[in-house]
Amino acid sequence: MDPKLINDCVHCGFCLPTCPTYVLWGEEMDSPRGRIHLMSQHVEGTPMTPEMAGHFDACLGCMACVTACPSGVQYDRLIEQTRVEVEREHERPPQERAVRGIVFNLFPYPRRLRLLRPTLGLTGRMAPFLARVNPSLGAMAGLAPRVERRQRLPRVVRARGERRAVVGMLLGCVQREFFPQVNAATARVLAMEGCDVVIPPGQGCCGALSVHSGLEAQAKRLARRTVRTFEKAGVDTVVVNAAGCGSSMKEYATLLGYDPGFRVMDLSEFLAELGPVATRHPLPRTVAYHDACHLAHAQGVRSQPRQLLSGIPELELREIPESAICCGSAGTYNLLQPEAARDLGDRKAKAVESTGAQLLVSANPGCTMQIAAAMRRAGADIRVAHTAEVLDASLRGAAL
Ligand code: SF4
Ligand code: SF4
Repeated sequence: MDPKLINDCVHCGFCLPTCPTYVLWGEEMDSPRGRIHLMSQHVEGTPMTPEMAGHFDACLGCMACVTACPSGVQYDRLIEQTRVEVEREHERPPQERAVRGIVFNLFPYPRRLRLLRPTLGLTGRMAPFLARVNPSLGAMAGLAPRVERRQRLPRVVRARGERRAVVGMLLGCVQREFFPQVNAATARVLAMEGCDVVIPPGQGCCGALSVHSGLEAQAKRLARRTVRTFEKAGVDTVVVNAAGCGSSMKEYATLLGYDPGFRVMDLSEFLAELGPVATRHPLPRTVAYHDACHLAHAQGVRSQPRQLLSGIPELELREIPESAICCGSAGTYNLLQPEAARDLGDRKAKAVESTGAQLLVSANPGCTMQIAAAMRRAGADIRVAHTAEVLDASLRGAAL
């Protein structure tokens, strides 16, 4: 851990009200300021006790504290370095090791996820039983979405009309296997806006889940492979439609120690910069937009998705109260810390319901699964869609 980064904190506490774990429990050591204090103790020689590791594990890595901090404390870098230390120094109990083994040997591997697809309908029904065996397994089963038919995308989707740009597109792991309709919509929207979309085959995981969990070696291996794939494809911009993946890919230079030969942009960021040319058809819907932490806090992308949605005729955009507070998804957090994640998910579902919107828009597959599961528990009848799906419906004049 870098002591210089730790010393940037002046202990003012401005970050406390934005921290989901502090909001839930009101404990100083589960706030950003408290965690930075623990980091400082560890740097000064205090060993990594199970209690200390527990406070770091309980952090969602949502980066709300980074946005709130007036002193520019780089908590994102601090917690990433800390998680590596936790993995190095903290001996986890066997059950915890087993759950983490399942999670990190499954989710970063699209082919293994594909094997799960046929069982997803069943796992949802098995959630209460699995929860009795292990809360993390119960959470995993309870989050299972209703998956749509797989859609094979070609290597290149050609621009409609005059070509305005050539971009690479990341398929992701969870996005590709559990939400194939989102990737199909993304490619269509980009093509309708005049882009050649290059989709290199053999793409793997970008490394986001690993980097957010302190698994440095796995993260670097996956990141290097992703860089090679897109450098070989010869694109200078890679468009990403999953907030967690985009934020990690934007940090590749820090992780790998060299700049990849392309820039990474979130889909909404790219489309807003490109500007619209395709005709928008009316979509008479009330829509609540959910700020994924890794889009709003980590990438600073807040206005672009709202701008794109507001550009659709007859669509009414509503704001969600407490939008800066994480929904509890946070990569693998809802699998590894299921109780806290459930409380945050229920809180978010209530906030979404209070908007009276017919549709929730989320630009991160983890948030989509987390909030949809919480809304199912609450009996709320609100569909969840990705920004790309909403734009696609409007551009094609199709129903949503
Ligand atoms: S992280 Fe920033 S906002 Fe929080 S206590 Fe430290 S200086 Fe203040
Ligand atoms: S990253 Fe989120 S959960 Fe962690 S300390 Fe900051 S605000 Fe709290």
